[in-house]
Parts: sequence; structure tokens; C-alpha cells
Amino acid sequence: QRAEWRKLRDEPTVTVDNVHVELAANIGTPNDVTGVLENGGEAVGLYRTEFLYMGRDKLPSEDIQYNAYKAVLEKMEGKPVVVRTLDIGGDKELPYLDLPKEMNPFLGFRAVRLCLDRLDIFRTQLRALLRASVHGNLRVMFPMIATLGEFREAKAVLLEEKEKLVAEGVAVSDSIQLGIMVEIPSTAVLADQFAKEVDFFSIGTNDLIQYTMAADRMNERVAYLYQPYNPAILRLVKMVIDAAHREGKWVGMCGEMAGDETAIPLLLGLGLDEFSMSATSILPARSQITKLSRADMQELAAKALDMQTAEQVVELVQSIQA
Ligand code: PEP
Ligand code: MG
Repeated sequence: QRAEWRKLRDEPTVTVDNVHVELAANIGTPNDVTGVLENGGEAVGLYRTEFLYMGRDKLPSEDIQYNAYKAVLEKMEGKPVVVRTLDIGGDKELPYLDLPKEMNPFLGFRAVRLCLDRLDIFRTQLRALLRASVHGNLRVMFPMIATLGEFREAKAVLLEEKEKLVAEGVAVSDSIQLGIMVEIPSTAVLADQFAKEVDFFSIGTNDLIQYTMAADRMNERVAYLYQPYNPAILRLVKMVIDAAHREGKWVGMCGEMAGDETAIPLLLGLGLDEFSMSATSILPARSQITKLSRADMQELAAKALDMQTAEQVVELVQSIQA
């Protein structure tokens, strides 16, 4: 099996009926890029920038960030790199920000909510990203977007920083795609409206599932409700993909679900364009997808959307794998 996977390292990911999808990797540091390339990753679908901010006693400077982003872009040699702006809060704390304790950190002051309040932090990160953009194929993504207003505000700050840099004579790429994570149900429901304004979506199922099912992703006692295969989740994913495609935009997924053997046939059938996962899952996923027909998976997904329980969906997928 390993030998088969290795042969697929430099191959595109194409179904038996000739549909190409992109297999990307989630990374946390520039050092992770080596593993992405060794495992045949076609892109970085999610660079979690939190690690730059964690494990130190003050905010990382613009230059520290610039060097990290530049390193990732250069090592990827022109392949797409989706960098997510700071997603701190929830399960990830920054002691030096001295934020008050919250009753519900996952529903609280985190990610883009914090960035739009602490514009000093946000602007520094955006400047570092814009400066790094000339070193590769950069895509910027905002996390935890719940309203169109938040997206517009964040985009406006990015454009302001871009104008300032250009006025200072700093080179900035003109082809940076700008997207959002779809990980809050309100955004999935209004995906048709978001799709008119963003360049792409990346579905963050780790959070989308917890918010849709109202089941804390860290709480063992409600883990039985954390159901990736619940038809409710599949319908939300379908809404997002259909809305994007109607506007000619692409859709990725960067939650754990994207690399899951049982979910992959369904996601392929629903029309997902990019699957972003841990680097070591890429070759197994490529091996799986190259044996599937998208037309057949479309039929499978249509059946799954009409089922009542997650268990029924799992049985359905297993019936084609047997
Ligand atoms: C997600 O929510 O699915 C996601 C990819 O982001 P994180 O796991 O960092 O919250
Ligand atoms: Mg998330």
C-alpha cells in the first residue's frame, strides 16, 4: 500500500470520470512545508498562524511574521498557500493579552472578533502578509466570520493597509485571493450572499459541527452529538458549495472531515473543490479518490442528504466500500 501511495506523490488527483480535485495540507509552522511536499500536497489549504503568537511573551513583530509567511510561500514554489489570520480565543489563549475570563470561550471574543477590536494586532499581521505576497501564491482567509459586516470590515482594513504599503513604495501582489472560513451556521445559511463578495470559501467543519449541533468539540460527554455525517451537516455543506459554484467561486474544506475516509466520497459527490488535511492523509486520500467516480458519488450524496441519521449515512457509504 505504501509503495502504491508513493507512486501517487507527483500525480494529480483525478477521479475515474476525469474530475480533478485539489489535495492540500493544514500546517502550523514553516517547517511543516517539508512534510507537505514529501506527501504530494498540491497546496497549503490552511496555515494556522496562531503558533506565531503562542509560546512567546509578547506579540510577534511584523518582521517576525513577514519572515514566516515568506518562508512558507517560497518553499511552496508558487503553489497556493491559504493563510488564516489570527484565530486566538476559544481553546487557544494568549496570556500576554490579558483578556477577561469568559463563560463560553467558544462563543466569545475570539478570532476576527478580537482582530476587529484590536486593530493594532490585525493591521500588523495584514501588513506582514501583504509584504510577503510577492514571494508566492498567497490567499488570505478570515476565521469565524458570522456576518457580512465583519467580512466587509476586515476586507476594508486589508485594503487600507495595501494602499498604505503601495504609497510607501512597497511591492504587493495584485492577485491575492481573499476568502473566509465557513464555520458558523449563519454564514453557511447566507452563503449565497457571501459568495458574491469573497473569492473562496473554506469550510471549517471542526467548528461548524460543534456550532450546528450545539456540542462542545472538547467535551467527551456530548461527543455522541458531534456528528460529521449528520444529514444536517451534509445539507449545510451542500448549501455552501452550491452557492459558491453559482458565483463561479471555489470551495475547500479544512476541518478534520476533509481527510476522513468515510466523508471523502460524500464530499466529492457534493462537489468540493479542495480538500485540506494533515499531510500524512494526502496520499491515502489521493489513492481513494482516484478509484471513485464523481457521477456515482453524486448519486450517493443525494441519497445521504435524504437520510435521517448519521448512522444511516455511515452504512450507506460503507455499502459502496464493501
Ligand atoms: C475548523 O474549525 O474546522 C478549523 C479548521 O479551524 P480550527 O480547527 O483551527 O478551529
Ligand atoms: Mg475553527
